[in-house]
Amino acid sequence: MSTPAISVVIPCYNEQEVLPEFHARITAAMEGIGLPFELVYVNDGSRDGTLALMLQAQAGDPRVAVVNLSRNFGKEIALTAGLDHAACSEAVVVIDADLQDPPEVIPALVAAWRQGFDVAYAQRSVRHGESWLKRVTAAGFYRVMQRLGGRVQLPQDTGDFRLMSRRSLDALLQLREQHRFMKGLFAWVGFPSVAVPYDRAPRAAGTTKWNWWKLWNLSLEGITSFTVGPLKIASYLGLGIAFISAAYIVQLLLRTLLFGNPVAGYPSLMAAVLFLGGVQMMMLGIIGEYLGRVFNETKGRPLYIVERHIPSG
Ligand code: UDP
Ligand code: MG
Repeated sequence: MSTPAISVVIPCYNEQEVLPEFHARITAAMEGIGLPFELVYVNDGSRDGTLALMLQAQAGDPRVAVVNLSRNFGKEIALTAGLDHAACSEAVVVIDADLQDPPEVIPALVAAWRQGFDVAYAQRSVRHGESWLKRVTAAGFYRVMQRLGGRVQLPQDTGDFRLMSRRSLDALLQLREQHRFMKGLFAWVGFPSVAVPYDRAPRAAGTTKWNWWKLWNLSLEGITSFTVGPLKIASYLGLGIAFISAAYIVQLLLRTLLFGNPVAGYPSLMAAVLFLGGVQMMMLGIIGEYLGRVFNETKGRPLYIVERHIPSG
């Protein structure tokens, strides 16, 4: 078999319920495009029959490649592992296995790429099956990121579902940081990009691996790996408090000189001590978030360990 023009990278963690249907639909969608392709399934340490299903698909179709990671590394790393092992010469498509990203959208992504765009990202026009709370928090997160992002802007309502040209993939693969906020990395790479709108379906089967705590951490990850903005808060807050304190000291001095000192300072003393204590703890926390990430980066570990790699063809 010749080298595939397009690789499709699919990170999977416990997806045995949807994988057969996904495989059928992605194969049909890719065959409709008419370019040689491969499907790179990454098993991210699933505890169910996901790997067996992948190997079975591989045995029946030489266009399937399997990358089995040694344990669960998380979606962002699993995705990176798949991108590292993509053999495509032209372009790569990133898609979730749970059918929330409909494979039928891929031809539209390919059409946009053929018009000369390096990146065609699928943009959700409707979010089915997601609570209003999730929608509101997602919108808030994008707004914060837009404020903080500066030169690098995150497109709204966009997941990892996208097509990238080989050269933008090569650029992306040069970014080897441990803390991988993929949306931020995609945006950092740049190149001419275009949005392709689609309807986001609810999960076909299985359950989401996300919960509120994980989403909160993902947002932290996004902000801290994207911008050092929060580190500046300390400087400005400190400056503000210094000004207020100076005014307060002047007022105290004048009052003492004019009216004597009746020693009534306990509540204001307590308020100042507690307030400053809280502010300092919060600032230490912010510095800690960044320091922890510096710590993880300096260890220079590989991003993932591959247990087995079966290439396509
Ligand atoms: N995934 C993964 N490793 C993980 C968690 C998720 O490879 O540790 C995969 C999962 O199998 C799916 C994709 O990442 O193909 C998106 O996961 P999920 O549907 O749970 O996320 P959501 O759609 O809720 O953002
Ligand atoms: Mg999903």
